[in-house]
Amino acid sequence: MAGVDTDALQRWLRAFAASVAAEKDALTGLDAAIGDADHGANMDRGMAAVVAFLDATPPADPAALFKQTGMTLVKSVGGASGPLYGTLFLRMAPATGGAAALEPDVFAKALRAGLDGVVARGKAEPGDKTMVDALAPALDALDAALAAGESLAAALRAAADAAERGRDETTPMLARKGRASYLGERSIGHQDPGATSAALLVAAAASAVAD
Ligand code: ADP
Ligand code: MG
Ligand code: MG
Repeated sequence: MAGVDTDALQRWLRAFAASVAAEKDALTGLDAAIGDADHGANMDRGMAAVVAFLDATPPADPAALFKQTGMTLVKSVGGASGPLYGTLFLRMAPATGGAAALEPDVFAKALRAGLDGVVARGKAEPGDKTMVDALAPALDALDAALAAGESLAAALRAAADAAERGRDETTPMLARKGRASYLGERSIGHQDPGATSAALLVAAAASAVAD
């Protein structure tokens, strides 16, 4: 395949926006249990703003798309998740090396740079009950599948499965970062909202890249 071009990345972001809109109330419901009941509204506002800029001023290349997406999310999502999702995309931009279409390993490295940015900014470790618990296993699965010679589409499906497992594994965790950490032991037994939206992000990537 010719790599992940700007059109494919637009399909990814639009698919993520659609699933966030569909799951808005569910995400907010999860955040009501261990946070302040705004994660669905935050993410929906942010991704609607991303779709609006894609419609108004389609980005010229992947780096521009990532940069504009990151800036839009930082500006419009708010809360803890806005700067973190914003950082994810802002860190992906330079990792593209200015390419018009990203080869699978470049796309994977860009995602890894994004996750490194989230960790640098939020200081969450695996097991802290955050979006990192969905993203980190997803990117490990992506790297492993690509190293095993699988297609990007197949590797992204493996990543989406790993993200969903990671999301599910946040339920028994004790929150150590963000608002949920204020609850201490009472955070146990609830699925993390940010890990849930992060699993939607990875699933959207799998849906946007065809075999
Ligand atoms: P807020 O908590 O400010 O209302 P959101 O509700 O939009 O923000 O997002 C909450 C989600 O952000 C959490 O479920 C968690 O996954 C994620 N999160 C919070 N703090 C951190 C952190 N330090 N590192 C990584 N993710 C975090
Ligand atoms: Mg919240
Ligand atoms: Mg909030």
